[in-house]
Amino acid sequence: MADREVDHLLIGGGVASAYCASELRRRGAEGSILLAGREPEPPYDRPPLSKEYLRGAASREDGFVHPRGWYEENEVELLTGTSVVSLDPGERTAKLQGGEQVRFGTALLATGAMVNILRVDGAQLDGIHYLRAFGNADSIRDDTADAEHVVCVGGGYIGAEVAASMIEMGRRCTIVEIEPVILSRVFGAEVGAGFQRLLRDRGVEFASGETVAAFEGDERVGTVLTESGLAIDCDAVVVGAGVRPDTMLAGRAGIEVDDGILCDAALRSSAPGIFAAGDCCSYESELHGRRVRFEHWDVALHQGRHAARGMLGEPAPYRVVPYFFSDLSDWASVEYLGGAAEWDEVLWRGDRDAGSYSAWYLASDRLVAALSVGRSEDLLPARRLIESGEPVGDRRAAIADPDAALDPLV
Ligand SMILES: Cc1cc2nc3c(=O)[nH]c(=O)nc-3n(C[C@H](O)[C@H](O)[C@H](O)COP(=O)(O)OP(=O)(O)OC[C@H]3O[C@@H](n4cnc5c(N)ncnc54)[C@H](O)[C@@H]3O)c2cc1C
Repeated sequence: MADREVDHLLIGGGVASAYCASELRRRGAEGSILLAGREPEPPYDRPPLSKEYLRGAASREDGFVHPRGWYEENEVELLTGTSVVSLDPGERTAKLQGGEQVRFGTALLATGAMVNILRVDGAQLDGIHYLRAFGNADSIRDDTADAEHVVCVGGGYIGAEVAASMIEMGRRCTIVEIEPVILSRVFGAEVGAGFQRLLRDRGVEFASGETVAAFEGDERVGTVLTESGLAIDCDAVVVGAGVRPDTMLAGRAGIEVDDGILCDAALRSSAPGIFAAGDCCSYESELHGRRVRFEHWDVALHQGRHAARGMLGEPAPYRVVPYFFSDLSDWASVEYLGGAAEWDEVLWRGDRDAGSYSAWYLASDRLVAALSVGRSEDLLPARRLIESGEPVGDRRAAIADPDAALDPLV
């Protein structure tokens, strides 16, 4: 027997749930909405955690998706500090932390992602940090206040952003990265090398092509040891070793999961009436012609909104071109569209030396991704070309000529 009933249950207190709630109301949903999130705060944006919030230049409230009062004003019941501990898709019931049983009409799984923990000797020492939530950013800021040297493990965007913030905060910082060049897996070696140069010019040090073998210290980390035998002394460590989708609740409920909660093109999970969105959602993308999952703020926002359509009985394929941004302090503003697993050609537009350019990634003469550094205006035509799926053909000349207008590209 359920203790009570809601029309729409939103599981997870992140961006995807918050935008699903507002879209349900914007589309005129009159039914009850319950949003349950494990963290103590209302849904908030995580991007500032490695940037302005870490540097102490933004407050928690600045990051809230909706102001605190929004939920009451819009009759969205917000339960913070509350996990959904089990789900019965057949009965359409969920059990909340504390034992309450809720029957729902439709549900959204927006449980996000969890950081990968390094399992090496010394991993339990004090001074080793991960970054996903406000509390982690607070700990890093406090713990590095008197640090001289901070090591960032992982040269993905989190490591790069934290390193930039550390330098801005007056610390010495070294990035330890498995690949020869940071950010090269997503953007390619040439673009990655440009970012590495930029960071190096601002003072970031690199241990490239290195894997962490162990941490050493008495109670507190004092040295990072790599497999090749480097010993890097430090006062604190921030690990950015990627995340994995949080599929625990869905998996336990018998919903199909793999690297994410498996959804169709309309973000419907294998359980009728239950949708997924954001970092936990792996969907059949018509745009990409394959199953994809993203860990982008903008994707969580758009998928949350899109799932609301489906929850109101208007499911449709999700076709938004994925968009990602990253700020390396105020040294470079990076934006990336698409999501290319592979490409066979890159077209350049603008001035790479001056740090104002876009890179256009082509596979079999189709545009599959585009990156902008300080050239946001190039991304709208790029988006249209990706959406169209048309061959790039003789558009190459216009793309590579920074003075040529791109408006009539598609
Ligand atoms: C430091 C940092 C910087 C980032 N910077 C950028 C950036 O510059 N650009 C960009 O595009 N993206 C960035 N991202 C990624 C972006 O923040 C994520 O893609 C986005 O937060 C995903 O939102 P979500 O709603 O899917 O999941 P999440 O934000 O992970 O939210 C899910 C929430 O659900 C909760 N939850 C899980 N299970 C349950 C349960 N059973 N019951 C109740 N609650 C549950 C979790 O605790 C969590 O609070 C960054 C992420 C981090 C951590």
